[in-house]
Parts: sequence; C-alpha cells; structure tokens
Amino acid sequence: MTTFYLQNARILDPACDRDEPADLYVRDGVIQSRCVPPDGVPRIDGAGLLVAPGFWDVHVHFRDPGNGAAETRRTGAAAAAAGGFTRVVTMPNTVPAGDTPAWVRAQIEDDLPVRILPAACISKGRQGREVADLEALAAAGAAAFTDDGAMVDDDAVMRAAMTRARQLGKPVMDHAVVPALARNGVVRDGPAARRLGLPLFPPEAEVEAVLRDIRLCRETGCATHIQHISCAGSVAAIRAARAEGLPVTGEASPHHLAIAAEEIPGDDGHYRMNPPLGNHDDVRAIRDGVLDGTLTLFATDHAPHTAETKTRGFLKAAFGIIGLETAIGVTWEIMVLKEGLHPLAWAARWTTGPAALLGRPAPSLAAGVLADLVVIDPRTPWRVTPDTFRSLSRNTPFTGWALHARPVLTVCEGRVTFTAPDAVALEGPA
Ligand SMILES: [Zn+2]
Repeated sequence: MTTFYLQNARILDPACDRDEPADLYVRDGVIQSRCVPPDGVPRIDGAGLLVAPGFWDVHVHFRDPGNGAAETRRTGAAAAAAGGFTRVVTMPNTVPAGDTPAWVRAQIEDDLPVRILPAACISKGRQGREVADLEALAAAGAAAFTDDGAMVDDDAVMRAAMTRARQLGKPVMDHAVVPALARNGVVRDGPAARRLGLPLFPPEAEVEAVLRDIRLCRETGCATHIQHISCAGSVAAIRAARAEGLPVTGEASPHHLAIAAEEIPGDDGHYRMNPPLGNHDDVRAIRDGVLDGTLTLFATDHAPHTAETKTRGFLKAAFGIIGLETAIGVTWEIMVLKEGLHPLAWAARWTTGPAALLGRPAPSLAAGVLADLVVIDPRTPWRVTPDTFRSLSRNTPFTGWALHARPVLTVCEGRVTFTAPDAVALEGPA
C-alpha cells in the first residue's frame, strides 16, 4: 500500500463537483482527511498537475482467452494502468466466447494492476439465437451483457435478454450495427474509399440498430447502452430517447471524436474499425453530443491486433485499434483543448459516467476510502510512440500525434500501478 503527499495539484472530482487546487495525502493506501502529513512522507510536487479518481473504460478487448499474440489479461491490464485506468470492462468476444460462469470468474480472479469488471455474452456462443444464462453469469460477477463485435439482430432474443437483464439490474451494451445493412462495408464514403474502391458501410446500418435498441428499451425498461457511436443520426436518436426519460446511454470513442473518414490518408489498415470513422458532420455531432451531455461516457474499444493482421492494406486488415494508452491524451486534446469541454466534465466522462452505467457507486477522492486515482500532466507535450506501449499490440492511427495530457501516476485500490518516472518527481524518503 502506498503513502505519499501530493502538493498543490488541481483536484478534479466529478462525484463531488469539486475542482480546486488542494493537497492530497494518501497513507497506507487510504486517502486522509487531515492534509498535513508527518515528516518523512514522500512528497510529489503537484503544481500544474491534475488528480482525478482512477478512470474507467467500459469497452476493452484483452483477447484472453484465445489470442495471446495480440494481448493477454496481464498485458492489457498493464496498458490500462499506464493509461490511467483502474477499472475496465472486458468484452466477451474471446475464443471461446464469454458465455459461462467459469469464463466470468477467470476474468476476475487474477491479481492485476486494474480491476476487471467483465461483460458476459447476451447470447449463447455469441450466435444471437438463444439468450445465455444471464442469471448464472450475473451471479458469477458479470457487470453487463453484450455480444460486442456483433449485434443481437433478432428482436425477440434481444427483448428477452433485456427483460432478464433488467430484473438483474445489469445493463445491456449493444454493438449497434444491422448486419444486413452493413453488408461487407469497411469504410464511410470519402476520398480514401473512392480512391481505393472500398465497399461502403452506410450510416443507416448503425442508426437503424440504435432506433431498434431504443424501442426495446422503451418496452423493457432495461438500461441500454450503445457502444462506439459513429453517426450523427445515432447521437440525435439518443438525445431524443434521453429527453423522453429512457435509460439509454452512448459512448464516444477517442477515434470517432478525433478522426473523420475524409482524413484517412490512404491504404492503411490502422484506420479500419467497426463501426468505421464517421464523416465530418458525424464527428461534429459526436463532439456536440459529449458537450451537451447526450453522451455521458468515453470508452476506448481497445482492440489489439498483431501487426500481421493490420498491415495487409485497408481491405484485408482486421477491424479495430488499441486505445488505452492514448485515451487521456486524445480526449483531452480534442474535447478540452479544441472543443472547450470543462475539465471536470471531461473527467466525469471517464469516471462517474461509466460507474452510473454499471450501477456502481461513483468513484471519488473523498477521504477514508482506498485510493483509486490518476495524476495527469496536462502541459508537457508528448508524441505517441507505440514502441513504448505496455500493450502487446501497436495498431493505432495516432502514431506520431503530438498530445499534451498524459497520466504520470496511477493508484488502484491503494497500490501504485503505474508511474512515469520522468514525469513525477518524488522528493524525500521513499
Ligand atoms: Zn463493438
């Protein structure tokens, strides 16, 4: 358990609506109310730094079991800690799929530098035909249900799953893409799509799915979460549903906020994801959705793939990019520095927003609890260099980007899980 005294940092604690310069004293892993530590406690000069509750990412793929060449729980957890995260929701599109209590327990049981809250399958084998044993999965520790990577296309199956999930008090998270409308599309219309002759992935494929999910939310009352929103139409539909009072949430991923389909530079598989990057008006709408509170959380959709599967050109590359170690930098750059989102609202999208979705207590820096926090340097420019990542994979379109914010210290449940030694100066005895 760690002990340190962080002096004069900017506290961002969305759960308490707190944004002020203050000191933070952690003793034996617990945040103290008395802010004058005895002599001999290691001190951190926090001037210019931010401190917030540890960040939560409700959408990560650790490829475990099934693809240890791309990521494992251990490497994924190290990447999460290095990205400032203390809670992650792992997706069940593993091999085999996460549709058994044993799978759920295996996700949870390791001693890792991040706490895993696993999402189990909605349907048996992720086949979309028969609802999995949601009650047994919840009893084993499933935090949510999703067939991520695929939509549950059959309305009757989804309705039954949502009815049961509601009784369990768990959210359903949908990869909202109607397969028949997406066909084999890989990209939105734009110069790269036309130049390379790539099959188009029409926005209707997502918007129709979002409207279907909202309809079922209205019928069942189940907390309904739309993953990785890529279209203006989806943002508008979620805004209307929330105005109606429905328990619908949506996530904005850093790549859908940062890059438009028109900006894809060429035949590069690192720009291929599912759903694809939106057009300029979609990116504008997703940013507006974050700014006006329609989209209450960010999530990375951290999707590791080996270099071999991402460097075959756009048409043959696997879908997805990693995101844990660029999440803070990219969302700060785009949403705070460029779009003027208040830092407290930015921190809320990574903390209270995800916790509310999962029905968990809001993470906070209040005294008396085990420290779960991230210290962020928002001033020192850094360049994205995938060779330094803890993730096993390197598939990111952000290589070479110059960003400002980065985590310099992560503490999970009272233990230090990441330090950037070049960025945090610990003074005094250790
Ligand atoms: Zn997905």
